[in-house]
Amino acid sequence: MPRKPLNTDDIVGQVFGRLTVTSYSHLQDTDKGIRIHYYNVRCSCGIEKVVTRNTLITGSTKSCGCLAREAKSVISHRMNTGYYDALFQEKNKRNIGD
Ligand SMILES: [Zn+2]
Repeated sequence: MPRKPLNTDDIVGQVFGRLTVTSYSHLQDTDKGIRIHYYNVRCSCGIEKVVTRNTLITGSTKSCGCLAREAKSVISHRMNTGYYDALFQEKNKRNIGD
């Protein structure tokens, strides 16, 4: 049974989170007969990646990974400045947060 061909260019130029789809990359057939479409994307931070169509459509990929890195660096910055320690101590004192 022939598969209905997918218009692979339909999401080219679209923006998903920080990622802009620049072009279609390639098709990969898995051993289970599932076709995975790969796209070239460019993150707003400048990093280019190849991601699957599915992760873009479902929204599970929104950046090259810099979003997660930035979130981490904010936390470690706050830890370094004692912000979190102060916050936890304050919570323990008042016995809130449960
Ligand atoms: Zn990025």
